[in-house]
Amino acid sequence: MPDLITHVAFAHVIKRPFDLKKSHTPFRALLYLGTILPDVLSRPFYILFPNTYDRIVFFHTPVGMLLTISLLVLFFEPAIRKGAFINLTAGAGLHFLLDAFQIQTSGNNYWLFPLTYTNFGYGLFQAGDLIPFIPLWIGLVAAMEVGIYIGAKNRP
Ligand SMILES: [Zn+2]
Repeated sequence: MPDLITHVAFAHVIKRPFDLKKSHTPFRALLYLGTILPDVLSRPFYILFPNTYDRIVFFHTPVGMLLTISLLVLFFEPAIRKGAFINLTAGAGLHFLLDAFQIQTSGNNYWLFPLTYTNFGYGLFQAGDLIPFIPLWIGLVAAMEVGIYIGAKNRP
């Protein structure tokens, strides 16, 4: 789990250029929510109640996220359910993509759950290795927004 700020900053850098020609509000916020959803729905619970890990980790799997998002979008108006589902799912996909590069001590990349508990991923960095870079991610997002603002202001 890269931290939640890293997840959202990564999603913003990916998504924001697509919003320049056509605004995708409020779906952009749903993409960001999707990037943190797997951790928000699993980590607090199995940290507070370690005995629940085997059941709660379900929310940190692609199958668990697809089922959760499928239920979650039922709370949206029918006209925007498809967009909400696509953006939440894309966000969760970005989450699992970044998680794949982290060294998992307890196992978290159960991509083929419930078929197997095999822990997939590339194991390139520890969870805490990205924490010092948070100011850099925030600075990059801010610089990107300033650049977009200046570009829009100078456009005839
Ligand atoms: Zn995660």
